[in-house]
Amino acid sequence: MTDFAANLNRIRARIRQCEEDYGRPPGSVALLPVCKGQPVGKIERAWRLGIRDFGENYLQEALDKMILPQDCRWHFIGPLQSNKTRGIAENFQWVQSVEREKIARRLNDQRPAGLPPLNVCVQVNLSGEVSKSGVELAAAEDLCREIAALPRLRLRGLMSIPAQRVDEPAQRQAFRTLAGEFNRLRKTFPAMDTLSMGMSGDFEAAIAEGATLIRLGTALFGKRTP
Ligand SMILES: *Cc1c(COP(=O)(O)O)cnc(C)c1O
Repeated sequence: MTDFAANLNRIRARIRQCEEDYGRPPGSVALLPVCKGQPVGKIERAWRLGIRDFGENYLQEALDKMILPQDCRWHFIGPLQSNKTRGIAENFQWVQSVEREKIARRLNDQRPAGLPPLNVCVQVNLSGEVSKSGVELAAAEDLCREIAALPRLRLRGLMSIPAQRVDEPAQRQAFRTLAGEFNRLRKTFPAMDTLSMGMSGDFEAAIAEGATLIRLGTALFGKRTP
């Protein structure tokens, strides 16, 4: 068995165990393998094992990997610059890192007519994050409303990258804050079904607090090359 296959089995077993431990329905937590900084051979191996969703942070790196058959769903999860929105709107099925109306509007306008609407998550910056990416929690609702009004985008949920903390109570605190906002916003935007939170170092805490999608890079693929 390759490292990836072994990692995948182990992670899937952990997810199932966490679902059980935290009272989450079986199968309610989806796994998004994040392949930034990984060679294309590893992505092909993942594809052969049935992986169809891939997360990427950089447009060009993703385009180089889109040699796989067309049945994959590519999720853009990195910082969004205006000059990259066209390539993203044309080649991805999901964008999880929308943090400004201007970018949302560009993605909407540039989404090709022949493709289904682009699935979008609003990236929220929880206080204490190292990265400056994401809208403030208090501004998330306004951005959700703007996105929900754009016909070529489909508002699916929230995403966040809380500061990496080692102790589980602190990890869970940040995830609980995001989950609270997600559950509140769903009353206004019932189509929202995705709470994207948790990475290799903290996914168990994220599942405990209600993540529906965890984004794992190194835990699945091993160390990244810069
Ligand atoms: C790189 C990255 C991940 C995966 O990180 P790991 O710690 O390797 O699991 C998840 N989400 C985002 C937004 C990332 O940039």
